[in-house]
Amino acid sequence: MERSFSIPISRRDLFKLAGVTAVGIALGGKNTVEAAESGETIKYGNKKIPVLCNVDVCICGGGPAGTAAAVNAAKNGAKTLLIERGIALGGLGVLGCVYPFMDTHAPNSDTPYLVELKSRLRAKGIEPFDGVTQQTWHNPEILAEIHDEMCAEAGVNILYQTVLVDSLTSGGKISEVIIQTIAGLAAVKAKIFIDATGDAYLSRCSGVDYERGYEKTGNNQPLSFRFEMGGIDTEKLYQYVAIDLQEDWCKSKLPYFEIAEAMHRKQRYKLEEFMARGVETGEITQDEAEYMQAYTIIGKNGVMSMNCPEIPVKFSATDPISYSKAVSFGRKMMRNIARYLIKHLPGFENAFISREAVMLGARESWRIKGKYYLVEDDYHNQSRFPDAVCRTAWFIDAHGEKVSEKLPAGGFYEIPYRSLITDKISNLIVVGRCISASFILQASMRIQPTCISIGEAAGIAAAFGLQNGIDANKVDWTLIPAHRRSYISAG
Ligand SMILES: Cc1cc2nc3c(=O)[nH]c(=O)nc-3n(C[C@H](O)[C@H](O)[C@H](O)COP(=O)(O)OP(=O)(O)OC[C@H]3O[C@@H](n4cnc5c(N)ncnc54)[C@H](O)[C@@H]3O)c2cc1C
Repeated sequence: MERSFSIPISRRDLFKLAGVTAVGIALGGKNTVEAAESGETIKYGNKKIPVLCNVDVCICGGGPAGTAAAVNAAKNGAKTLLIERGIALGGLGVLGCVYPFMDTHAPNSDTPYLVELKSRLRAKGIEPFDGVTQQTWHNPEILAEIHDEMCAEAGVNILYQTVLVDSLTSGGKISEVIIQTIAGLAAVKAKIFIDATGDAYLSRCSGVDYERGYEKTGNNQPLSFRFEMGGIDTEKLYQYVAIDLQEDWCKSKLPYFEIAEAMHRKQRYKLEEFMARGVETGEITQDEAEYMQAYTIIGKNGVMSMNCPEIPVKFSATDPISYSKAVSFGRKMMRNIARYLIKHLPGFENAFISREAVMLGARESWRIKGKYYLVEDDYHNQSRFPDAVCRTAWFIDAHGEKVSEKLPAGGFYEIPYRSLITDKISNLIVVGRCISASFILQASMRIQPTCISIGEAAGIAAAFGLQNGIDANKVDWTLIPAHRRSYISAG
């Protein structure tokens, strides 16, 4: 198989061809795809739309999982297309202002792609380790740049500002996905599709079984509307929280520093009283006081990533009307929290909101039901699988429902390839936070490093399946040569 293609024509020309002449488009020189030559169109409803390209692997969603999948599919020789509705890769980790990456708490859990990502951060002057914790402190603009670079080097073609709208299936396979580009509707053909939307969107429109929310309550995990605040005197903040209040939650020292408050946890934080005072004076609501957390951002002096507000659980991550109301409600909460911190928290006197997330923080929305369904027992029993694609041990962090104890030191469970595939669609692999897992188990596996490792494995498996004529949902991870696998089960 030839290596991945490149785009020899300009991006402007690409979209001009797609939209204006309504014909298919070549994405490659010698790897020119068939659609370009035929000017192929397909019928979608009562419309004829262009087939924009025809590739080996099409990944929908450029979050941590999708980007890792794309880079690894391309590196392993597949013609790869990555579709992202935003204009930066990284998903919640960039567009949702979710930083840093949490520590998996599992020993030796870093798969090669993660190791590479971290070394690239370092090469760009972002030291991701604080020397105390194992979490990966990153910088969103630099991470987006690294994703672009890694995709370009591997030969991944990216369609930005492109939304997956629908899929067409026949004979238990996805034949095309329908996308909304800046130029209008188009189709993409591929041999394998990877659902990295976080919301199992591609799976759902392809008829795959799915679940949403907690089976006991019907609720999704609460949404958050994260943001950044600039103009913070972090030295003064550190002095107040870590030294004067003697908060020992954050073990690391500046420039790596975190403040936290989560009243619904067993853990008591020194800022609890500070937030509660705001409720007494009427400056903030109980919901706003309930959850407040902020992390410094390496390379952005005086700027902190605000892991709040946490929007009340009555707003749903899976109901479009409720979700939209959550945006406005969350923005109001954000403003209130910011105002309160600026007025009362030492170090925040000159602070301001410097960035709002452009993607609401959905911890959990829809999850597929795949060949293997991970459950809470897999966490506690530290399950091992021959077809494991990674390991993790982040605790069960289902906000408002359940927070588990950490596994004993050195403990972890594994995630099998079978939880990424289904019996329904043979050329589909699902990655990231919407794999086949129960609500409670998902609350552990959803952290970015684990989603990245899952995506990495999917890219490798997709390319391997193509090269060996094996359907994606029949690939046996254990038969992929060991040197090509990103992870081998601990057995
Ligand atoms: C508030 C909050 C705090 C968190 N805190 C942490 C933390 O501190 N550390 C940590 O490691 N993890 C944290 N997480 C978890 C982590 O960020 C996510 O679980 C992880 O990013 C999931 O990765 P993903 O690739 O599966 O999906 P996402 O990150 O959601 O990425 C999905 C991508 O697909 C794109 N997409 C979706 N639908 C379409 C479509 N139809 N067409 C085209 N593109 C589409 C989106 O734009 C996005 O880029 C947090 C999550 C939340 C919500």
